Amino acid sequence: MFALRYATNPKRRTVSNFLSNADLHDGPMPMDYFVWLAVNDTHAVVIDSGMTQAACEARGHTFLCDPVAGLAQLGVAPEKVAQVVVTHLHYDHAGNLDKFPNAHFHIHPAELGHACGPYMQHASLRRPYRVDQICTALRLLYGDRLHFTAESTEIVPGITSHWVGGHTPGMQVVRVLTERGMVVLASDAMHYYANLERRNPFPILVDTLAYITAWDQLLALADSVDHIVAGHDPKVMALYPNAAPDRPGFAVRLDLPPVA
Ligand SMILES: [Zn+2]
Repeated sequence: MFALRYATNPKRRTVSNFLSNADLHDGPMPMDYFVWLAVNDTHAVVIDSGMTQAACEARGHTFLCDPVAGLAQLGVAPEKVAQVVVTHLHYDHAGNLDKFPNAHFHIHPAELGHACGPYMQHASLRRPYRVDQICTALRLLYGDRLHFTAESTEIVPGITSHWVGGHTPGMQVVRVLTERGMVVLASDAMHYYANLERRNPFPILVDTLAYITAWDQLLALADSVDHIVAGHDPKVMALYPNAAPDRPGFAVRLDLPPVA
């Protein structure tokens, strides 16, 4: 099970990453951008699909590698991917859907409904979405390749999605059975470990109470707090063993215990 870091934003600051700024000392607090991959002898499941270089640079982030090419470098060519779970449709999670020609995509209905619904009349709420990516998702729906998840859905044996909401209406987290136990990809239900540690939400959210409730859902789904993987925290790259020793900062192994 891998986390692949495809982009970074070194300019982000502490005060931008928490809902309540009352007790914060401001300073640099960089953000990393990931896609995730779970493989065994039978299945290759991609969790989120990142974004293109153009989408990345349009938002002022530093593009590190093409996520689809990066997955291939980890051993899974895009045409071999049969299942992609999209945790939510924000621009940094739901690009490149057209790059997996044989894949089926798993999205919570509340997410696509939100991204196509009345709240998108408000620029502030549609800002984290990209209309080209949403159009691609709709094309996949009309092509019988986009499937809607329920409160919990088995994607393949050992991998389930779980709807939590909060950050977005259709936000879902993904649980993967590994040799070290049940690992949960929080994605944007927990951008940084510090959001949970300080019980202080990331400030981009649609439902504060659901976001806070999601912390308990994460803790219940994972075998321990060390089995929860933050969605945007550079600490992920330091916590877990390097998956490609000749290429530091590219990918880490989440199925192995944290080393730091
Ligand atoms: Zn995100």
